[in-house]
Amino acid sequence: MTDLGRDRVLISSDFGDYALLSRDEADALQAGGQGLSPTRRMDLAARGLTNVSGAVPDLDEAVRRTRKAFLLEGPTLHIFVVTLRCDHSCHYCQVSRAAVGAAGFDMSLADADAALDRVFEAPGRDLTIEFQGGEPALRFDLVRHIVLGAKSRNADGAKALRFTMVSTLHHLGEADLAFCAEHEIQLSTSIDGASALHDHQRPNPSRDAWARTVEGIGRARAALGEHAVAALPTVTRAALNDPHGLVDTYRALGLRSIFLRPVSPYGFARKTARVHGYSTAEFLAFYAQALDYILKLSAAGEAIEEVYAAILLRHIWSPFHSGYVDLRSPAGAGLGVMVYNYDGLAYPSDEARMAAETGDKRFALGRVDQPLDDLLASPAMSWLAAGAVAEAIPSCDRCAFLPYCGADPVHHAVVHGDPVGDRAASDFCERQTGLFRILFEHIDKGDPETLRTFTAWAFRKDRREVRTSGFVER
Ligand code: SF4
Repeated sequence: MTDLGRDRVLISSDFGDYALLSRDEADALQAGGQGLSPTRRMDLAARGLTNVSGAVPDLDEAVRRTRKAFLLEGPTLHIFVVTLRCDHSCHYCQVSRAAVGAAGFDMSLADADAALDRVFEAPGRDLTIEFQGGEPALRFDLVRHIVLGAKSRNADGAKALRFTMVSTLHHLGEADLAFCAEHEIQLSTSIDGASALHDHQRPNPSRDAWARTVEGIGRARAALGEHAVAALPTVTRAALNDPHGLVDTYRALGLRSIFLRPVSPYGFARKTARVHGYSTAEFLAFYAQALDYILKLSAAGEAIEEVYAAILLRHIWSPFHSGYVDLRSPAGAGLGVMVYNYDGLAYPSDEARMAAETGDKRFALGRVDQPLDDLLASPAMSWLAAGAVAEAIPSCDRCAFLPYCGADPVHHAVVHGDPVGDRAASDFCERQTGLFRILFEHIDKGDPETLRTFTAWAFRKDRREVRTSGFVER
């Protein structure tokens, strides 16, 4: 049960069903439910919002098969850091990147092959191989080797493979893009805002980072198709004052989705936090304004999506998990994601390897040539397990947002020193709480155009396909 203010209280079940109650109704429910109207009592019982815990064993099983189905899949996202080298020197960079000409910062062929062995030890059918860096395009030969190696190991088609690559797009030549098109490698790049802001925050040697990325988006679209390239910003203090401007930059580039990510507290970025950082309250104020603007554009018929809201709405309205590994319980670290670093070490998440790059070695699971089961049974995984299950974390266990939220033991280990952390002082929790409140306020207000947009985002539909906004509690 969580108080949303304005005489509204949110209650939810393990199954993710919810109801928005008045304070009087919430008090009556806490007192045993006798003070509720018979209709309300039956309504809550039908949605599993009364006397659920432990009383309906089938419900637990149903939760495991829907919201927690990822438990049976093992790691599905496999990140290959093929090189740490990069020609950008982004102010907020999350890793201590290496200079373009530096030696000793590329993955060896032997480690790439060993990591592929780990990928195919994962039990799940749907596997994503993601290339990151540094700038992975500087070692596109390794990218080719890994893609072709994965495909040849999957000759029987037992796995559904998906490939993604995070790149500035500056170094992808025509032959590289043709390879991406042939093997359906989805590209993701960074656009931090208009050219002046982007070039200031993401300097490259020729000081033309924005122009070259925009040119790369055009070339990639021509080779791979309109929807094969996504972009996302890192929201720094400089972007905070102009949420409309950031959204308009994406619209002008023909980008139909934007993932409003705050600047990371990890790795190298911690050193520049004073310049680029801000409070969670400031981020939430920015986010609320940006979301209002996006909803207005959407209501006017423009196809545009805020990615994180769509993930949270999928968790709130759909019986299934979104697949987003950074927000689930048990946490995705190791159980949903494996990172194979350029130096042959394996990590449970990208954030863990970023923390390791700045000297914090507690997160390494072992080497890529160890079996996946050994990596998952490593001391680092046992250490992180203490904070991996949100249902067992004090405060989360009583929070009505719990079915839609997740645990992030790596974040809390980095920021608080231990994987459980303290939710009362957790910026992760403060941000999650704030974002859920923003979304539930919109749901409670019930503007039909907003609900139509939310429904489209939650169920991955074109807004024009949504005939009604569905059932919404009032
Ligand atoms: S992290 Fe915060 S918002 Fe998420 S379930 Fe825990 S207490 Fe609730």
